[in-house]
Amino acid sequence: MIDSFKHKGLRQKLVDVLVEKGISNEAVLDAIGKVPRHLFMDSSFLDHAYQDKAFPIAANQTISQPYTVAFQTELLEVEPKHKVLEIGTGSGYQAAVLCLLGVELYSIERQSELFKKASIFLPKIGYVAKRLIFGDGYQGLEEEAPFDRILVTAGAPFVPKALLAQLKVGGRLVIPVGEKEQIMTLYVRTSTKAFEKQEFGQFKFVPMLEDKS
Ligand code: SAH
Repeated sequence: MIDSFKHKGLRQKLVDVLVEKGISNEAVLDAIGKVPRHLFMDSSFLDHAYQDKAFPIAANQTISQPYTVAFQTELLEVEPKHKVLEIGTGSGYQAAVLCLLGVELYSIERQSELFKKASIFLPKIGYVAKRLIFGDGYQGLEEEAPFDRILVTAGAPFVPKALLAQLKVGGRLVIPVGEKEQIMTLYVRTSTKAFEKQEFGQFKFVPMLEDKS
């Protein structure tokens, strides 16, 4: 569990790459510069941890590309104390970035292996989510709703109604929508009945799956 000067240097270079690619939110860049991404990856990929690429983690899933994490987090516009729901805990890297931004984080994962790993690992390195949940993100988290922000980190074939319903008025849902490739989509809830939708280009995620098989 070593975070050396070499790692810190590589992280700073990664931050520079993200700035070049258009990320400008200082708090987001600062968080990417602080979270030790290499510790969220399998040992065989350690040398690549600070490249701007997605990499395999357990259960056939991936740790998202840093640019994607930064882009989604920037679009989410979180503020400290916001109640935030993440769908797809995965490695826990995006969750760590959100924790560092001071939000009250709820994160759902449907793969038990990843859920268990993140539940132990995140608090161990100092990132304490309000709750990590093993379950199906398509349902959202009714008992804790409404949320200021909801972030989906898997490719959703459609926008789950439960997620829109669990958003506060003024709240933002960031969700990559599509089957093979996804369009990054933002929904802002403008009233109890109305949402404004905006699209932000193509990304590629592992699929958001509905059942547990
Ligand atoms: N945020 C993660 C990205 C992981 S990839 C990170 O920073 O590493 C997307 C994750 O979404 C995978 O772990 C996958 O198992 C999970 N996932 C897919 N469908 C889901 C669903 N219906 N509910 C909850 N999690 C889901």
